[in-house]
Amino acid sequence: MSTQMLIGAKLVSGTETEENILNPRTGEIITTLPEASLAQVEEAVSAAEKAFEGWSRTTPAERSGYLLKIADKIEAEAENLAALEALNCGKPGPMALGDELPAIIDCFRFFAGAVRCMTGPVAGEYLAGHTSMIRRDPIGIVASIAPWNYPLMMMAWKIAPAIGAGNTVVFKPSEQTPLTALAMAKIFAEVLPEGVVNIILGRGETVGSALINHPKVAMISLTGDIATGRKILEAANKTIKRTHLELGGKAPVIVFNDADLEATVAGLRAFSFYNAGQDCTAACRIYVQGEVYDKFVADLTDTVADIPFGNEDDSLNEIGPLISLRQRDRVASFVARAREANHIEITTGGEIPEGPGYYYKPTVVAGALQTDEIVRREVFGPVVSVTRFDEPEEAIKWANDSDYGLASSVWTKDVSKGMQVAAKLQYGCTWVNTHFMLANEMPHGGMKQSGYGKDMSSYALEDYSVVRHVMVAH
Ligand code: NAD
Repeated sequence: MSTQMLIGAKLVSGTETEENILNPRTGEIITTLPEASLAQVEEAVSAAEKAFEGWSRTTPAERSGYLLKIADKIEAEAENLAALEALNCGKPGPMALGDELPAIIDCFRFFAGAVRCMTGPVAGEYLAGHTSMIRRDPIGIVASIAPWNYPLMMMAWKIAPAIGAGNTVVFKPSEQTPLTALAMAKIFAEVLPEGVVNIILGRGETVGSALINHPKVAMISLTGDIATGRKILEAANKTIKRTHLELGGKAPVIVFNDADLEATVAGLRAFSFYNAGQDCTAACRIYVQGEVYDKFVADLTDTVADIPFGNEDDSLNEIGPLISLRQRDRVASFVARAREANHIEITTGGEIPEGPGYYYKPTVVAGALQTDEIVRREVFGPVVSVTRFDEPEEAIKWANDSDYGLASSVWTKDVSKGMQVAAKLQYGCTWVNTHFMLANEMPHGGMKQSGYGKDMSSYALEDYSVVRHVMVAH
């Protein structure tokens, strides 16, 4: 297991406070890793600054070649990376290997292609005697800060477009889930010129804070909590840094009377509970129309009660534990508070199972009202609320009545109804008759307090580059 950070060309250990890295299935310590010192943060930023000069002048074809090499290395090490991710996050290993790794490899390959296809408006004489053209140039040093729910995928989403666009990066994984980032440090060290990507470890309030407040950092990219997003904006305020924020969600799901109920229930078993619901797009806030409400709740309850977890044979598990004791207690306390309301029924789950690890039983909270905390706040665990509606307009209003604006879905056999509702939803993404599905060609990102950065797709390349105008007087 790699335990060293990457600063410039050197793989080095941190020198400060040691952090216990835990296995969430057992609560046992996997390893202990020291965080970076402030001097090491400084060295990482200097290495990125030094590298920027050369890297920002490489051609798109050259950068594309590097991205392809990174993708090949990840592919060659996919089993090891998936095993590390499963160990550190508690994810079922076969799912990490079968679902996440291919998407991560494809992310690097997508940007390897996309970076060679960037387009812009035509050059021309917009003032007589002057020719104008648009350039898209890199921004500079990007501080990238990732969460714990998909450590390697978030790293790919952040690093591939940033370096593809010609920036250099100092990346900090979550202090809880650094293991795959450290494995990637070796890959980056082997493939990339010195300093293009630097990886440092540490907590948010120490290393993260030093990084986002660094005057030489030109852009901060965060996937994390809204509260952390606010801190990023405060730090950015001082030197007017660019920001790219992805800040969670509370995805509404509207199920109409005419939905294919069997497919909807099967879909929501997967799309609500994948990664134990620790997903900012998780289909967690379900609105179901009156005629099918009772059957939907009964069928969803039956299937959710069957979700397997905690088996010795990992290929049998559909979900893992929560990332930490703290997160499990947080989820349990949301459900405990919801249970106190007379109108709410916990139809399955709502308990901490026996045994080791930070597991929580997959839970359905039925009869929830729009004003309930369980409907309004992000739980980030294997818990869905179900709320009954009668008129479509009511469901659309409730769906939009949220501080979040990342993902949403509509379930109906009437495609034109699906399109009409999709047009009215204020979310970065609306799926019709599915949820959660992503493609590297398509953007992922929010509205409102879910933030505004776009990951994946050519829009990410736009976010990580700056539009410039060059004018020549004849
Ligand atoms: P978090 O905000 O606590 O931590 C995210 C990262 O920010 C970590 O690396 C942490 O060390 C760092 N950080 C914390 N305080 C900091 C500070 N003051 N300065 C600099 N860095 C700091 O979030 P988390 O608990 O790791 O992740 C869960 C959250 O992330 C959820 O709210 C979830 O919805 C959100 N999320 C959003 C998306 C998305 O695409 N929108 C994807 C995954 C997770």
